[in-house]
Amino acid sequence: MTSAQSLTDFDAEMQHRLTDGPTPTPVHPRPQPPARWRQAKVIVTRACWAGCEFCHFSRFVPLALDKTVPPVLGIADAAAELQRAPAFDMVKIVTGLSFQTPLEYFTHLISTLRQATGRPVQAFSAVEVDHLARRLACSGRDILTEWKLHGLDRLGPGGADLLVPTVRPSLARYRISVERWLKIHRVAHTLGLRTAAGLMLDARTPAPDIIEHLNHLRELAEGLDYLELQPLEPDHTALAPVRPPQLDQLLRVAVAAKQLLPNLPLHIHRRHIRSADAEVLLADAGVDRVIETVVEVEP
Ligand code: SF4
Repeated sequence: MTSAQSLTDFDAEMQHRLTDGPTPTPVHPRPQPPARWRQAKVIVTRACWAGCEFCHFSRFVPLALDKTVPPVLGIADAAAELQRAPAFDMVKIVTGLSFQTPLEYFTHLISTLRQATGRPVQAFSAVEVDHLARRLACSGRDILTEWKLHGLDRLGPGGADLLVPTVRPSLARYRISVERWLKIHRVAHTLGLRTAAGLMLDARTPAPDIIEHLNHLRELAEGLDYLELQPLEPDHTALAPVRPPQLDQLLRVAVAAKQLLPNLPLHIHRRHIRSADAEVLLADAGVDRVIETVVEVEP
């Protein structure tokens, strides 16, 4: 059997488990409960022009240059607020896409929060790197080199909603391609940066798409720090009639992720866990860490 054939067979087995296989059941001996990972979330701006169908985070701001753009986060105020916050393990910086904020602002924000907190900084994602590179007519490598020099530890999972070229245009027509997303992560890894990936799913996400997504992540596995399960949060999005995944589906996906990427820690945010029992089952299925946001700072 060729390696291509064995991969296809493996994918077929995965697909069966994701759709028709038995529901994952508790394992014995029970693994350690998922560790808690406390994050301080820093939001630069919720203004964004991209209008991704699934986005519950941003507020649409059109591209027209004569429109007033809402203010971005004050850096000194954000640093002071994080210094007063309960203890946390990392700083996570996110933003909508802006045509106005200069690169120097983002660099200064990373460097200031790194120094003020002494905690690792996970900032932005391949989406923002690509957007800035186009705006400034430079390369993603230039931007990542600058940010690494000023304290960036890890690039966040944004843009890894579903790494399936045929479905991306219907979810987020202006988002970077799968190839571009993978390339920016590879560049980050060559610079010594770590990166993270997500997997967004809803009740109708087909098993072959999940497998294709996970297989793309296998190409990067050495440089990834974690994979975050991101159940769709449809309220206030263009996908409002679509349901988020049920626990049963999440368990199957966690098992599949652990089989395809056994060494990659699997995360989920606490807001997606409905009960203590669900947390136990997710741990059994392979979830390693539960993320908690202990403070959120925004303009
Ligand atoms: S680019 Fe990011 S912030 Fe903007 S709409 Fe898409 S998901 Fe939301």
